[in-house]
Amino acid sequence: MSVEHAQVQRADFDQVIVPTYAPAAFIPVRGAGSRVWDQAGRELIDFSGGIAVNVLGHAHPVLVKALTEQANKLWHVSNVFTNEPTLRLAHKLVDATFAERAFFCNSGAEANEAAFKLARRVAFDNFASEKYEIIAAVNSFHGRTLFTVSVGGQPKYSDGFGPKITGISHVPYNDLEALKAAVSDKTCAVVLEPVQGEGGVLPADLAYLQGARELCTQHNALLIFDEVQSGMGRSGELFAYMHYGVTPDILTSAKSLGGGFPIGAMLTTEKLAKHFQPGTHGTTYGGNPLACAVAEAVIDTIHTEEMRAGVKARHERFKTRLQQIGEKYGVFSEVRGLGLLLGCVLTDAWKGKAKDFFNAAGEHNLMILQAGPDVVRFAPSLVVENVDIDEGLDRFERAVASLTQA
Ligand code: PLP
Repeated sequence: MSVEHAQVQRADFDQVIVPTYAPAAFIPVRGAGSRVWDQAGRELIDFSGGIAVNVLGHAHPVLVKALTEQANKLWHVSNVFTNEPTLRLAHKLVDATFAERAFFCNSGAEANEAAFKLARRVAFDNFASEKYEIIAAVNSFHGRTLFTVSVGGQPKYSDGFGPKITGISHVPYNDLEALKAAVSDKTCAVVLEPVQGEGGVLPADLAYLQGARELCTQHNALLIFDEVQSGMGRSGELFAYMHYGVTPDILTSAKSLGGGFPIGAMLTTEKLAKHFQPGTHGTTYGGNPLACAVAEAVIDTIHTEEMRAGVKARHERFKTRLQQIGEKYGVFSEVRGLGLLLGCVLTDAWKGKAKDFFNAAGEHNLMILQAGPDVVRFAPSLVVENVDIDEGLDRFERAVASLTQA
C-alpha cells in the first residue's frame, strides 16, 4: 500500500463524515473501464456504475480528454455570462429529444426541483391559483431536497423533517385506474419514472404511460418524466420515453448525463420554458463549462446506433445469465428492467436480504447495487466488455453460491 493511501482508511469515514451513508469496507482508488482497484491493490469488476452514472466506465479517454481540455481553458464564469459548452450541450439535447429548451443544474434532485417549480409556475400563470397539486407514484424516488422527498413516494426519506411541501399525493405505480381517480383540474403535474429505479427497477407498462399522457392532456396538467436514472442511453434508447413512444412535457436528466461529473438538466418545450424568467430560478454552477464539456462528450459518444445495439446485446447477456443463476440457486423470482438497468427480484426465502448479496459480491471482487431490500440491481457501464460481463457474472455466481451454501 502506498504511503499516500495509507494515510486515510475506511475507519476515518466514521470519524469525519456525517453518517448519511454506510459505504463498503474497501476504498476504491482507481478505475479503468469496468475495472476498479482498491487501496490494497485488489481488482474489482464494477457493475454498479456509481449508481447508474459511469455510463462509459471509468476514465474513458474521450471524457478525460474533454475534461482536461476544458480544464485548461475555462472552469467557471457563473450565469452572469454564458459559455460555449453549455450552449453546445443544450443544442445537442434539444436536437436529440422532444425538448426545445434546457435548464442546467448539478444533480437529479435539482433537475426535479426545477421541474416541479416550473409545473407550479405554469399553472399559477395560466390557471386558477388552486391548480398546484402534484401526483406522484408510491415508491418513487426523485431526490433529497424537501420538495423532491415530498414528491417521492417513500415516507422513510420524507418523514421527520417537519412539515412537508403540501399539495402532493401518491398513487400506486402502474395502476391507471388509481391515477385516473386522483387526477383532477387541480392537478398541475403528474410525475413518473419510466422505470422506477430506487423503488426496485420496475419498468412502467406502456398502457400506463399512454394513459397518464392522455389524462394530463385532458386536465391541462404537465407530464413530467424523471429520467435521472433511466436516461442517457441506459434503457437502450437515449431516453426511456423514446422506448415507450410517450412524450412528456418536462424531462429531467442527471447521473449518466455527466458520466461521473456532476450535472443535471431539465428539458422542456419553449412554451413552458418561458414561464421561467430571469430571477425566477437558478443556481450558481448550472451550466458550468467543465460539466457541460464532459456531458457533451458523453452524448456524442452514446447517441449512436452502435451504442443502442450494444446496450441491447449486453442486456440479453446479463439477463440470460442472471436468470440461470436465479434458477440454479432459487434466489430470484424475476429478472427485470430495461437495457443496462437490471433488477433481480429476490424470492420469498431471500426477501429483505439484498444487502447480503451486495456484501457477498464485494467479497468476491464485484461491485453491485441494491434497489431497496428486495432487489439486487445492476447498472454497469454501457460499454462494459463481454469478458468483463462474463467474469463479473462468474464472480456473482460464486458470491450467490457462498450465500446459499452458508
Ligand atoms: N430521480 C431519480 C429517478 C433517481 O434515481 C435519483 C437518484 O438516485 C434522483 C432523482 C436524485 O438524483 P441526485 O442524487 O443526483 O440528486
